[in-house]
Amino acid sequence: MSDSALMDTYARFPITLVKGKGSRLWDDQGKEYIDFMSGLAVTNLGHAPDAVKNALVQQLDQLWHVSNLFSNPNGEKAAKLLVDHSCADAVFFCNSGAEANEAAIKIARRYHQKLKGNDRYEIITFNQSFHGRTLATLTATGQEKVKEGFLPLPEGFRHVPLHDIAALEAAVNDKTAAIMLELVQAEGGVIPVDGDFLREVRALCDRHGILLILDEIQTGMGRTGKLFAYEHYDVEPDIFTLAKGLGSGVPVGAMLAKAHVKPAFVPGAHATTFGATPLIMSAVIATIETMLSEKAVERAAEASDYLLKQLNEKLGGLPNVASIRGKGLLIGIVCAAPAGEAIAELHKRGLLVVPAGPNVIRLLPNLLVSHEDIDAAVALIAAVLTEQAAVKTANS
Ligand SMILES: *Cc1c(COP(=O)(O)O)cnc(C)c1O
Repeated sequence: MSDSALMDTYARFPITLVKGKGSRLWDDQGKEYIDFMSGLAVTNLGHAPDAVKNALVQQLDQLWHVSNLFSNPNGEKAAKLLVDHSCADAVFFCNSGAEANEAAIKIARRYHQKLKGNDRYEIITFNQSFHGRTLATLTATGQEKVKEGFLPLPEGFRHVPLHDIAALEAAVNDKTAAIMLELVQAEGGVIPVDGDFLREVRALCDRHGILLILDEIQTGMGRTGKLFAYEHYDVEPDIFTLAKGLGSGVPVGAMLAKAHVKPAFVPGAHATTFGATPLIMSAVIATIETMLSEKAVERAAEASDYLLKQLNEKLGGLPNVASIRGKGLLIGIVCAAPAGEAIAELHKRGLLVVPAGPNVIRLLPNLLVSHEDIDAAVALIAAVLTEQAAVKTANS
């Protein structure tokens, strides 16, 4: 136990960040960092983007919070922006990713039990997935470590291996309400889902009247070079969830659904006090409008091509790099051995990156990242991994 008054729920890096602007962060010693983690895919427009800051400041002068019992122009506008730019027809706003997935699980069950008149409740998810830390979403998560010590877990979840359509078909039964997955398993090691597999999942859902839920909490809001990752595939979900990049850093989540699912939620079925609060919605509106006006998604796709090209050129031949994978600006450098030391060394040299599982260095620059910052980041990564490869060779 540490002497911190904060719960020890994170093993924290020994860095205290005090200021951020664009792609840069500064610590309490005045040291400058290039940020290639974006608060874990949150600050997709960089730190403190002016348009979002101005919208928040203006809203702070006007109205912070009213109950959801009143009509809500900011919430309406934010929802309309999302609906206009996605396959969804309605949005429920909440405060985090886990809550968005909770809402998705709840609406899927209620769709079957109230609209379809059946008693389906099971949600099938995949091994290595990550869906959140509430009791239902940690049960949905396909990783044992998040479940330890929290028994008993809620009923109604099944896990199958990713990309195993036979196992998925075998898991489907007359209680199956939904299949839920991420299109790049992010926390699980930056593992992109194969297009043919996803299309087979969609077809399976259609054959059996099962809802398809996509967890786009990390992949959404431009992160993969499309506004939503499902746009890479010829597939639309019935329900999908957003959070991380949705508000540029203010806490917000969203559960979006198509028209056939929308009526499953009626007054009293689901709620949250802070959902769609005017202040937070002002940040969401400004985030989406800025993404559109700055062509952030197109720029992310272009930056991704450049970053992947640089990484492949500079790291390609290294014996300690097994592969480079991902989609858009959600990229994993898969190392042949645990990546913790390389990550700590990169932090020392002024580049902030995070792991994804033990062996993967995860890169999450903001969507507007410049070629100069990509060059600088790749040079640092190449230097650290080349030095480590040399030490390894010398020792062996
Ligand atoms: C971060 C994340 C969550 C959980 O979001 P919180 O806001 O931390 O509750 C769920 N699913 C995915 C894919 C995530 O990346």
